[in-house]
Amino acid sequence: MHYQPKKDLLQNRIILVTGASDGIGREAALTYARHGAHVILLGRNEDKLRDVAQAIASEGGAPTHQYTLDLLTCTPEECQQLARRIAADYPRLDGVLHNAGFLGEVRPMDQQTPEIWQQVMQVNVNGTFFLTQALLPLLLQSDSGSLVFTSSSVGRQGRANWGAYAASKFATEGMMQVLAEEYQSRHLRVNCINPGGTRTGMRASAFPSEDPLKLKTPADIMPLYLWLMGDDSRRKTGMTFDAQPGRKPGISQ
Ligand code: NDP
Repeated sequence: MHYQPKKDLLQNRIILVTGASDGIGREAALTYARHGAHVILLGRNEDKLRDVAQAIASEGGAPTHQYTLDLLTCTPEECQQLARRIAADYPRLDGVLHNAGFLGEVRPMDQQTPEIWQQVMQVNVNGTFFLTQALLPLLLQSDSGSLVFTSSSVGRQGRANWGAYAASKFATEGMMQVLAEEYQSRHLRVNCINPGGTRTGMRASAFPSEDPLKLKTPADIMPLYLWLMGDDSRRKTGMTFDAQPGRKPGISQ
């Protein structure tokens, strides 16, 4: 995507990023802070979140808050408690990037372990839904809220061996479409990003034989992440976007 964001694109915007401790989420948190946002870091590992907070501070970014939540075990009540804690620290949320994700197992359907299937659904769908439901009132306090889910090419076209992960990403696209229609007449837009193959730990575990140097880095795909959080995308809702348009899904040759 060729997009030249203004340096102050996200000035005074309050943006929560899930899975902010690593990979694409870490980069998104740093990038949003560089464009003026107050970033709220969410993850399950306090030490890794603290590292990201320190990196933002060392670049002169606005102060961050970090909260821990394990999407694998979280209950709706825990998510409501978290939302109450955030509401005590912030007046609203202008953006939420649902980025945290769990790959599970890449293997045929008849070999998918039921427990791992449930874990993938819990992290990518159920926990993400509980958190969304809890955060909606804060998002509706914004005069131009942006709720962004993270999809995948296997969330639009099924592919052999992608089992629970593919099914969870189809569910993510569905959740986005339902919410987008429900909030169409409010100040909240809801969209999905498909990052496309990106150089992270998750990608390496999905494609261990792939040369990571053939992949875009999280920093390379940030233009779309910025555009969807800023006012330049204000009228877009109910859509799914590719961070790497034209990239052929699957292993990089
Ligand atoms: P990483 O594995 O690098 O990062 C995943 C993030 O999710 C980490 O911050 C991780 O936390 C967090 N996370 C995982 N499980 C939980 C949990 N139970 N509770 C809370 N947080 C959790 O992956 P990527 O950066 O590659 O992936 C980011 C998103 O992009 C995912 O939704 C993924 O499905 C999607 N995606 C990625 C692609 C790629 O090629 N990289 C392609 C298509 C989609 P921790 O640091 O504690 O492990």
